[in-house]
Amino acid sequence: MTFNELNLIEPILAALKTEGYTKPTPIQQKAIPYILQKRDLLGCAQTGTGKTAAFAIPILQLLSALPQERNKRTIKSLILTPTRELALQIGESFGAYGRNTGLKHTVIFGGVSQHPQTEALKRGIDILVATPGRLLDLMAQKFIDLRDLQIFVLDEADRMLDMGFVHDVRKVLNVIPEKRQSLFFSATMAPEIMKLADNILVEPAKVEVTPVSSTAHTIQQKVYYVKKGDKKNLLIHLLKGDEIDRVLVFTRTKHGADRVARDVTKAGIQAEAIHGNKSQNARVRALDNFKSSKTRVLVATDIAARGIDVDDLNHVINFELPNEPETYVHRIGRTGRAGASGTALSFCDAEETSYLVSIQKLISKNVPVVDNHPYPMTAKDFAEAASTVKEQKSKGGRGGRSRWGNKPSGNGGGQSRSHNAGSGSGQRSGGNRN
Ligand code: AMP
Repeated sequence: MTFNELNLIEPILAALKTEGYTKPTPIQQKAIPYILQKRDLLGCAQTGTGKTAAFAIPILQLLSALPQERNKRTIKSLILTPTRELALQIGESFGAYGRNTGLKHTVIFGGVSQHPQTEALKRGIDILVATPGRLLDLMAQKFIDLRDLQIFVLDEADRMLDMGFVHDVRKVLNVIPEKRQSLFFSATMAPEIMKLADNILVEPAKVEVTPVSSTAHTIQQKVYYVKKGDKKNLLIHLLKGDEIDRVLVFTRTKHGADRVARDVTKAGIQAEAIHGNKSQNARVRALDNFKSSKTRVLVATDIAARGIDVDDLNHVINFELPNEPETYVHRIGRTGRAGASGTALSFCDAEETSYLVSIQKLISKNVPVVDNHPYPMTAKDFAEAASTVKEQKSKGGRGGRSRWGNKPSGNGGGQSRSHNAGSGSGQRSGGNRN
């Protein structure tokens, strides 16, 4: 099936072409026709199946058909999602697929200043992507009026319940118009989720895609325990083997990305880095070189990687593990697109083991460990790292907590320490600030 056969309008078809999408994924094939018929929908699908586009595309099409508003735009679609990360991704999807429609969207979530968000709301938007807490907060402050709402989406309902947002969701349901179209997505359909769905949906169409197509399950995942200072050598070792052709390598920071690209290039393998400090032109060029296989290795930070859509990418390497487990799922979803096979290799140093624990919890499986590699970590290395953490904590220095738990955009001042000196530590002199 093609996107043409889904009767999509030209501005959206053109945007999908720009995105490089050639055909709809199964959830898109099944869900889009029902949504365009203005039916309520119960969708059982995980992240990685293309579910965001499955609702974003028909919402954009339905809203495009409405008469243009002369004066102020009003919110006609609300997408409620549990995390800031998902909210941003959904916002980007609306931006990408809706680039030719003239419709406006914004994303709101907590933990950041509300000012830019309220300014965007004041300018007027058609589509609002929100996490529950900030939505209720801004509604209470009268920045948000949902009286004109026509399409309501509850994304990742199961996680919404897990994260304790059910009361917030109910509060939102109490203030949105009863006459509306509702779309409900969840990776699982446990009884309490079905109960919530029953409250929200009216005679919904039901679509399901098998969990097999979920990113975290179709992609072969492996983890290498390796000392921080040996990661570079392990990467070069793997790149010199025959298994990896083109690979996207993730680092947490911009400097980290530059450093890895430099080290790999020095080893005689073509590599480039993309991140927010590079100009748009430099990024586009690096991506084109990677797509056309002129460079084998593209090193990216998470933010820079958001726009990357590369077909036939078989390998992703997490040079550093992300501290948010959702980011891991998003990263590895760059390979094994739409059911194709893919491999995600992760380097985990002693300090990152807690990240790995969270990731395994989120994806509900243990990532198999590769023991047989030239730079294994010994029990002594683990113990040494653990004692360094303890030392940092007892000193109360910023290195302790910020290194192990905070976002990489925080200060990275505590990172260049000496317990693994002697293994390439000279490269660390620039620090690791984002
Ligand atoms: P999602 O399940 O919404 O998180 O989407 C997973 C990934 O698949 C995203 O990076 C999308 O850009 C990508 N994607 C969604 N639909 C398609 C499609 N029809 N063809 C290729 N990639 C797609």
